[in-house]
Amino acid sequence: MHEMSLAVSIVELVSGKARAAGATKVTAIELEVGKLSGLMPEALAFCFEAAARDTLAQGARLEIREVEGGGRCLACGHAFVLDSLLAQCPQCGGYAVETVQGRELQVVSLTIDEE
Ligand SMILES: [Zn+2]
Repeated sequence: MHEMSLAVSIVELVSGKARAAGATKVTAIELEVGKLSGLMPEALAFCFEAAARDTLAQGARLEIREVEGGGRCLACGHAFVLDSLLAQCPQCGGYAVETVQGRELQVVSLTIDEE
């Protein structure tokens, strides 16, 4: 499952950062997940819980913020909300559309316990 390997990477990333900061526990993680990334937030949260077991991130609260897809037409420059990767420009009808946002998966913030 794609979500599982990503969850493992997230746990490794945040555990590494927490350890470097001298923390004993990660209490919360804020994630940005693009709606065009193909990831299911529920599946990601479920996998995260499993991947975090016995790490500094165990029991951390995962906050997932979904990012709307955004596209820009390469022909006329029109920017619009993108629902899928195969979109048509609503202004000129062109199919040469660049995805400007909505495919991201990133950790935006981390709350750690240094006690
Ligand atoms: Zn256009």
